[in-house]
Amino acid sequence: MDRIVLLPGDGIGPEVLAEARRVLEAVSGAYGLALEFTEELIGGASIDAHGTPLRDEVIELCRESRAVLLGAVGGPKWDDMAVDVRPEKGLLAIRKALGLFANLRPAAVIPALAEASTLRPEVVDGIDLLVVRELTGGIYFGEPRGRDEVGGKRRGFNTMIYDEDEVARISRVAFEQARLRRHHVTHVHKANVLDVSQLWMDVVEEVAKDYSDVTLAHQLVDSCAMLLVRDPGRFDVLVTGNLFGDILSDQAAEITGSLGMLPSASLATGGFGLYEPVHGSAPDIAGQDKANPLAAILSVAMLLETSLACPEGAAAVRSAVSDVLAAGHRTGDLILAGESRAAVGCRAMGDHVLAALETP
Ligand code: NAD
Repeated sequence: MDRIVLLPGDGIGPEVLAEARRVLEAVSGAYGLALEFTEELIGGASIDAHGTPLRDEVIELCRESRAVLLGAVGGPKWDDMAVDVRPEKGLLAIRKALGLFANLRPAAVIPALAEASTLRPEVVDGIDLLVVRELTGGIYFGEPRGRDEVGGKRRGFNTMIYDEDEVARISRVAFEQARLRRHHVTHVHKANVLDVSQLWMDVVEEVAKDYSDVTLAHQLVDSCAMLLVRDPGRFDVLVTGNLFGDILSDQAAEITGSLGMLPSASLATGGFGLYEPVHGSAPDIAGQDKANPLAAILSVAMLLETSLACPEGAAAVRSAVSDVLAAGHRTGDLILAGESRAAVGCRAMGDHVLAALETP
C-alpha cells in the first residue's frame, strides 16, 4: 500500500485538491494501484489550528509516504505575521526537510487554449517543454554570502557553487524525464563567463554517456531566454541550476498564458515527490467554486508518472484534460475577453475530467 499525503492548504487549495484527489482515486482504481490517503494541514490552516505552518508530525508522515500532493498556501489573513511563522514558511520547510532537489515545471500549450498566450499562434503551436531546475544548491544557498563594508563602500555578495554530485543527480533526473518525452535535453549555462557552468558542462556530458538514446545540446542562458519567446517549440527538457531555472521556469510558464493550467513536481531521490499547482491560493475567488482545478489535476498526472511509475494513468489524465477543453468547457480564468461562454465551476470541471477519463 502506497501512502499519499494530501496537504490542501489555504484559499482555493482545498477546492482544487478535492478534484485532484477524485481523479487520482479513479485512475489508481482503474490501474490497480493500492493507495492510502492521509490529509493534513499546512500553511495558514495549520497556523490557525496548531500555531505553526507545518508540524513535525506532518513532515514525518510525508517522509513515510510515496508522494505528497499540495494545494496552495497563504492569504491576506496571515500577511501581517512575522516572516518565520507565515504560511509560506511551511512550504520552504517541507522542501528542505524532504530533500527535494529537483524542481520540474512543464509548460505545454493545449491547442484549445493557444489563444491565451501573448505570443503569436504560430509561435505557440507545439510548445511542450519541461524545465528541470536544481532546487537546493547554487547561488541561493552558497557560502560565503552577506553584506559588508570595505574602504567605506557597502558591498553585497553571494556564491554560486555546485559540486559534481549535485550536478550529476539533477542531470540524471533530466535525462530520465527526457526518456518519458522526446529524448532531448538542453543544458542551459553561462560557461563563457562562469567557472561553475564549465563544471556543469563537463558533468552533464559525463552523465549523458549513460543515456545514448537521449540527445544533448548546450545553450547559453541569454540566448535560451530569447529562443523561449522566438521558437519555444524546439525545446524538450531544459536542465539548469537554481538561479537560471528560477527565471526560465517562470518565463516558460508565462508563454503558455494559463496560470490555472500549470502543474509542478519537486523530487527527492528514490522516486519520492511533492506535486503542486504553480498557482497560489487565489484568495479573491476562494470558497466560490470558481477555481480551475486543472493544474492540480495535471499535477496528479506527474505524480502517477514519476512517483507511481504509471505512465498510462498519466497519459489518461492528460488526454482527459485535453478532451474536456476541446469540448469547450472552461473555468472563468480560461475564458478570454470578448468570448461568450458560460464558466463551469471547480467541481463541475472535476466531473468533466472524470467523465472523460478513458481507463481500463
Ligand atoms: P495567485 O496565483 O494565488 O493568484 C493570481 C491570480 O490568478 C488571481 O487573480 C487568482 O484568482 C488567479 N488564479 C490563480 N490560480 C487560479 C486557479 N486555479 N483558478 C482560477 N484562477 C486562478 O497569486 P497571488 O494572488 O499573487 O497570491 C495569493 C496568495 O497565494 C498569496 O498569499 C501568496 O503568497 C500565495 N502563493 C502561494 C503559492 C504556493 O502555495 N505555492 C504560490 C504563489 C502564491
